[in-house]
Amino acid sequence: MPTESRLGGPTDLTMEALRVAEERSRAYLRDLANRSVYPRESALAALAQFHEPFPDQRCHPADVVRMLDEFGSPATVATAGGRYFGFVIGGALPATLAASWLASAWDQNSAFRIMSPVVAEIEEVVLRWVCEIFGIPDDSEGGIVTCATAANFTALAAARHALLARSGWNVAEDGMFAAPPIEVVVGDEVHASVLKALNLAGFGQRRVKRVPTDAQGRMRADRLPKLAKNSLVCIQAGNVNTGSFDPAAEVCRWAHDHEAWVHVDGAFGLWAAASANYRHLVAGFEMADSWATDAHKWPNANYDCGIVLARDAAALREAGYEVLNDVVINQVLVSFGRAETTQEVMRRVQEDGICWCGGTVWQGKTAMRISVSSWATSEEDVEKSLAAVLRIARQVGA
Ligand SMILES: *Cc1c(COP(=O)(O)O)cnc(C)c1O
Repeated sequence: MPTESRLGGPTDLTMEALRVAEERSRAYLRDLANRSVYPRESALAALAQFHEPFPDQRCHPADVVRMLDEFGSPATVATAGGRYFGFVIGGALPATLAASWLASAWDQNSAFRIMSPVVAEIEEVVLRWVCEIFGIPDDSEGGIVTCATAANFTALAAARHALLARSGWNVAEDGMFAAPPIEVVVGDEVHASVLKALNLAGFGQRRVKRVPTDAQGRMRADRLPKLAKNSLVCIQAGNVNTGSFDPAAEVCRWAHDHEAWVHVDGAFGLWAAASANYRHLVAGFEMADSWATDAHKWPNANYDCGIVLARDAAALREAGYEVLNDVVINQVLVSFGRAETTQEVMRRVQEDGICWCGGTVWQGKTAMRISVSSWATSEEDVEKSLAAVLRIARQVGA
């Protein structure tokens, strides 16, 4: 291996590695439209190249980037392109991609304002914008976190703090053991990440009451249980299968009449507020007490980027954690008849490589779930993907 003196100083090494990264990134993005959306078997097999003994010699930084590109790029899932419709995954907008390069060059630790004034300032701006879009009080406290799961957890920890404080219990001082009970209410179609966050925040599954939902997965407000000032109600803006929205205004009114706390899991759905065409879907969600959402879904920011907001600023700050189908919108469920037929169509669509869609089970029925979440998806991508799905469905005899 060449030594640093023969290669140039640290700055030269950095410049060369960046140049290679830029070239390789450009080539990667240019090729996205032509490649299989899901990596081919051969690309997956080539990942074995990464398995080598822990290096005991230094190597050239640019070579690290070359190796990543050579064996890593073909084994990526082309989520940055226009024909990935799995889970709820956005692409990266040109500005967010390029800005993330700059942010990597900055390499800021943003735990406190004194550690990075610029990051703290930009976070403030983003949070105020998000309050404006969602129509929630602009003195709500919030933070940028890694994902909606972390945002749900943070908000639920804040709710826990505030609700227990009403019974004279201080979580920070007294912990959770022997704390007064909190009653948790969720819709039957609650996202798994909320249940996970509830567990992490110390609420056991047995404490969680599930409210029945309608055929689209919306919580039935008429089936809400009696609530109290120690109740925590979790509602959803954008069901991951159908895209449906819980009846927020009704739930919030009922909950607030009983002084309960309402938390919104709006990982992607809350962003409907930014569109004049879809704003009506999120009416009432602004009445809640806390909100979790993702900038890495519809807003197409780079991974990872979640956002948490809470009306009660003190509770959020105290939370153990310093935080910095009817197709109503983008989620579509398709069944091709019997479960095995639908699974076969999905398997072949994924193997075919033109587009990528995942599967789910919705109210006992196996379905292909199409999530349109990327800015890069064009009319042409939709046509091309639709043609591939229809061709495969015909072959399977669906
Ligand atoms: C995606 C999603 C989540 C989890 O988001 P992550 O960013 O992956 O943690 C939670 N709730 C809903 C409704 C989602 O669609």
